[in-house]
Amino acid sequence: MKTTLTTALESALDFLEGLDRNPVAPTADRATLLSRLQSDAPEEGLAPELVIRELVHTVDGGIVGSASGRFFGWVIGGALPAAIGADWLTSVWDNNATLYACGPAASVIEEVCGRWLKQILGLPGHASFAFTTGCQMAHVTCLAAARHAVLAKRGWDVEKQGLAGSPPIRVVCGDVRHGALDRAIRLLGLGSANVVPLADFRQLESALDGSPAIVLLQAGEINSGAFDAFEKLIPIAKARGAWVHVDGAFGLWAAASPRYRHLVRGVQTADSWATDGHKWLNTPFDCGYAFVIDPESHRAAMSHRASYLTHSTEARDQLEWTPEWSRRGRGFPTYAALRQLGRKGVAEQIENCCRHARELVHGIARMPGVELVSEPILNQGLVRFTAMDTDAVIEAINQSGEAFFTGTTWRGTRAMRVSVCNWRTSDDDVRRTLHAVERILACRATSAS
Ligand SMILES: *Cc1c(COP(=O)(O)O)cnc(C)c1O
Repeated sequence: MKTTLTTALESALDFLEGLDRNPVAPTADRATLLSRLQSDAPEEGLAPELVIRELVHTVDGGIVGSASGRFFGWVIGGALPAAIGADWLTSVWDNNATLYACGPAASVIEEVCGRWLKQILGLPGHASFAFTTGCQMAHVTCLAAARHAVLAKRGWDVEKQGLAGSPPIRVVCGDVRHGALDRAIRLLGLGSANVVPLADFRQLESALDGSPAIVLLQAGEINSGAFDAFEKLIPIAKARGAWVHVDGAFGLWAAASPRYRHLVRGVQTADSWATDGHKWLNTPFDCGYAFVIDPESHRAAMSHRASYLTHSTEARDQLEWTPEWSRRGRGFPTYAALRQLGRKGVAEQIENCCRHARELVHGIARMPGVELVSEPILNQGLVRFTAMDTDAVIEAINQSGEAFFTGTTWRGTRAMRVSVCNWRTSDDDVRRTLHAVERILACRATSAS
């Protein structure tokens, strides 16, 4: 056991220490990775220490450097040292965080972290919560509670009667939203045909006629980082009896910073909120959080009781709140991240990422042949390359190994996304990245002329 885990520890340290030196983008392609693996299920076993050595060799070059401070693709967080350590221990302790009886510490730590998260995110203290695999399942959890609540008001018990024959539920949302919401709608049987996308939320009032409705708002649009006007829209939705759910995968964390809190003004008056630990809080994957204003609707949608389980009357049985049954103790890395940073540290992390996003976006936009497409409101921004194909420039930057970006199409324009979500991104990383982009643009400009 000891040599196996020591081997893993040494490889982990090698990897982390190599982040500044090694290419950010993967260097091994699929064929290479496949060629290193056995094509059929192995007949014979292998000593555990050798398994780890072999694994490290096998995946070499196939690990994206998303832990690096120069990784700006999609919306991908880093992992804080304390959170990584706690995540390792979560695997070692190997408790099933489904019932208090299966792991008292895992249950109590979630109870405490749930309270901390509500304080940091400025959410109502009496809201119930669940620690899920990510924001996707946090949406499923919240919207299951929403489905319960809006139908219960019409005397329909959806858990018992199902959706066949139920009053229809309308889902009103913006026309630009994260696909995880659409998947949650599908999984819950709400039906994509019942989604009413609004090009403009000024149409919200007329889209709600008092029949069962769920309104989806967002804190942090995936490309621009934009926020819906919660203060104005939530009272309109509430007056029409709708349930308001907020997608705040990364953007809800603006609430943790005095400087950015104004962006989420009024968000606490919604009915449910979904966010992530593995993005901006920088816990390792997988870790998301669901919060629901009405614990009874939340519990009605999720709970299950059975004679072979050992339910607690007082303590938190996570199974009562989560869509999963057996699960890992996500409270441990969450606790470690929050304990390492404290409220001040969380605010600083948010503000540093936002500052670095601005420096990168403006720094790149100032270069010849670059246009600013979307100014960072928070930690996401967009630029496009006017003299060259934007995707080709992204490809060249990634190929250089110095930094990593991804593209998007926003309001019909092809653009490069800049997303800063990692505690590790330093001023030096910003400088190195700007140099790399500058070099690539200069070299492309020369080869083009
Ligand atoms: C990442 C993201 C999601 C999905 O969250 P997962 O943690 O990947 O399940 C949903 N909405 C937004 C805005 C996101 O950025």
